[in-house]
Amino acid sequence: DLVPIRRALISVSDKTGLIDFARALDARGIELLSTGGTAKALREAGLSVKDVADVTGFPEMMDGRVKTLHPKVHGGLLALRDNEEHVAAMSEHEIAPIDLLVVNLYPFEATVAAGAAYDDCIENIDIGGPAMIRAAAKNHSFVNVVVDVEDYDALLAELNANDDQTTLAFRQKLAQTAYARTGAYDAAVSTWMASAIGEAAPRRRAFAGTLAQTLRYGENPHQTAAFYTDGTNRPGVATAKQWQGKELSYNNINDTDAAFELVAEFDPAKGPACAIIKHANPCGVAQGATLLDAYKSAFDCDRTSAFGGIIALNQPLDVETAKEITGIFTEVVIAPGASDEAREVFAAKKNLRLLTTEGLPNVLDGGLTVRQVAGGLLVQDKDAGFVDMDDLKVVTEKAPTEEQMRDLLFAWKVAKHVKSNAIVYVKDGATVGVGAGQMSRLDSALIAAKKAERMAEAMGLPQPLTIGSAVASDAFFPFADGLLEAAAAGATCVIQPGGSMRDNEVIDAANEAGLAMVLTGMRHFRH
Ligand code: 5GP
Repeated sequence: DLVPIRRALISVSDKTGLIDFARALDARGIELLSTGGTAKALREAGLSVKDVADVTGFPEMMDGRVKTLHPKVHGGLLALRDNEEHVAAMSEHEIAPIDLLVVNLYPFEATVAAGAAYDDCIENIDIGGPAMIRAAAKNHSFVNVVVDVEDYDALLAELNANDDQTTLAFRQKLAQTAYARTGAYDAAVSTWMASAIGEAAPRRRAFAGTLAQTLRYGENPHQTAAFYTDGTNRPGVATAKQWQGKELSYNNINDTDAAFELVAEFDPAKGPACAIIKHANPCGVAQGATLLDAYKSAFDCDRTSAFGGIIALNQPLDVETAKEITGIFTEVVIAPGASDEAREVFAAKKNLRLLTTEGLPNVLDGGLTVRQVAGGLLVQDKDAGFVDMDDLKVVTEKAPTEEQMRDLLFAWKVAKHVKSNAIVYVKDGATVGVGAGQMSRLDSALIAAKKAERMAEAMGLPQPLTIGSAVASDAFFPFADGLLEAAAAGATCVIQPGGSMRDNEVIDAANEAGLAMVLTGMRHFRH
């Protein structure tokens, strides 16, 4: 299964490493064919190269839309060298075999990422490149296809190791990589078009991304992992600038995302906010008069869990907050900017990672979320559900006061970002107890209250901060027990979707316990 390379077609947009690679091929006596820009670059480096236009007998035309789409090219890539009819067709039509194809595509993803206009993006959809890549990859029994600058050295090493030939196993690996590239390329085009034309439905989609980073390991050290970006350019962990600290890990990326998406719920124009995340769940979220206040209040919700946490801010990091944050061990801080002084404070903490973004994402923006199950992908709209005052229905004798209403809406925003079952106690614009990820709503209510008790003890407070709090439940109370537990913890008002068969029982219990309760009519499960 060893085959030699006699003729190579090189057509690359990214000309990184091109000249050295082409020289190495030339030194092995490999004939070079090339398209316009690539041929020019090679000639300027003193290499001799044949123009594809001379092979096809057609000039490149229509702004490069048609360069290599010709039987002389595709026949040379696709012909089976051990098939008599194919060989006869090659000789009848004077088609020379092409044994190596080196193509990297028009930079479609980079063009979109740069915010180019519609027509510019369209013009950057490569047609001939993918056609050649798919042809060469199909014929990997005989043909080598290189689509990634990083594989130039691997090909040369393979030739060195095999007397200027390549093995089938090597060509198969190249072909597999090639189809990953064309698949991801068209997925990027489709994803961009969906957003350009406002198509939001999760049907008829293809999913792929651009490899951004090979990670040291996955969720656990025995798992390998990588990070792919989807080119949507949303402010967040995928597009943030990292100023310092080690490379982000798999878990860091996941948690940083959770933290930033949560803090983005809080409009910076309405004041500073801070979210602290552990294992994808918030262990403290708060608004404050200053960023420092917001951080301190968030920290006070659960000081134990905040250790080694991930902090997201909705305003640029300032020096006071930076100093306070360095008081304990923190993995990552992400914010829409950081002052020079704040960065200097962090510089002394080598292990602390600082990420800054260009602004906050709009949490109401559409988009799809994808998760994997064995044998498939589950795709849905992002949970961009939103309620405001007018959507709320008061169902109890007591109505919440203005102040309570503010805390209820705050708790509701946080609950959206807590794994179900979620119970969130809030007081004065800060979480004071978060119950996450329990299999019963009652347990979430109990755990959150218990944590608040422990914090009160640790902080020397006379009573837990859940006394007089607002509580949110991400889904309805199926029984009154969870609600009564919240009341026992000291909650005085409740926000929840409603819609249970036993809503009346729950409402009666709320009235009896003297609670004010509002229904949102919207649920925020998150699993
Ligand atoms: P060059 O810089 O050599 O003029 O162009 C190289 C680029 O053209 C490569 O990215 C390659 O994928 C692309 N290309 C090659 N053939 C065709 C074609 O027939 N149509 C289009 N649209 N692009 C092509």
